[in-house]
Amino acid sequence: MSEERCRFAPTTSGPAHPGTLLAALLCWLDARSRRARLSLRLEDIDSTRCTPESADDMRSALEWLGLDWDEVSLQSANRSLHEAALDELAKDGLLYPCACSRSEIKRSSERAADGGWRYSGSCRDRPLPKGGWRSVQETLRLRLTSERVEPHDEGGVDLAQDPAAEMGDPVLLGRTGSIAYHLASVVDDGRQQITRVVRGRDLAASTAIHVTLQRLLGFATPVYRHHFLLLEESGGKLAKLHGAVGWRELREHYAPEVLCGLLAGVAGLIETAAPTRPRELLAAFDWRRVRGEDLLMHWTGESLVNPA
Ligand SMILES: [Zn+2]
Repeated sequence: MSEERCRFAPTTSGPAHPGTLLAALLCWLDARSRRARLSLRLEDIDSTRCTPESADDMRSALEWLGLDWDEVSLQSANRSLHEAALDELAKDGLLYPCACSRSEIKRSSERAADGGWRYSGSCRDRPLPKGGWRSVQETLRLRLTSERVEPHDEGGVDLAQDPAAEMGDPVLLGRTGSIAYHLASVVDDGRQQITRVVRGRDLAASTAIHVTLQRLLGFATPVYRHHFLLLEESGGKLAKLHGAVGWRELREHYAPEVLCGLLAGVAGLIETAAPTRPRELLAAFDWRRVRGEDLLMHWTGESLVNPA
């Protein structure tokens, strides 16, 4: 095994869909072809949407496709590490409480680089109360300094950004006490000493904030590669192929090796889709063969097709 450490880190708020399975397959092929250590980290910290059953269901979906892991962890088990990171940021004077509601933020701001709303910073001069961040009943945000961050993407995706200007100060702790994705993901990658992050391009716009957090918390920055997405038409525009079909319905129409072959075919890893297992794709795996452009797919109710 090499010194490299990779992870696949799906959110478990819903069932695995074709895009999840594609992302998992590409991440698995990347790690296994490099003989890296590969972790499955189930991102289940949103307790309003994630249950122990949904984490098990995600694991079952990935096993069904034929993927395996050197270790499996639940992000919710790392709560004390996430809180320690908040302690550190609070000590450096970088946290502040924010009372703005979602509608206030929408009214007073522009779109952020990730498609959300850029926070205008109206609360950023507020100090933490005497009792520290634990006594705050509002949202906690990170006070960013305006600075251009230029992370490198191995596949050439432009990740350069001034997060303060383009995203606004990110939420690190929700009003209900839930740790935010950006913080949990960066702390867990840092603690697991992850050296490579392979993930979908929908997360590319978050990378500059992740690198900023790594620097503030003293973690090394991993190598990044953001790959193409499966899209679907939804209400006249393109969205991630998400809601259309979950893995349990896919399983009624596809054997795992048939779906694996289909995903490998659309990714460009095999010339024509033919049944295959992930490990049969390893010998010839090469990112130069993986398509760059996002791909439109449609679930007919029986099969996944490219409508073009
Ligand atoms: Zn505010």
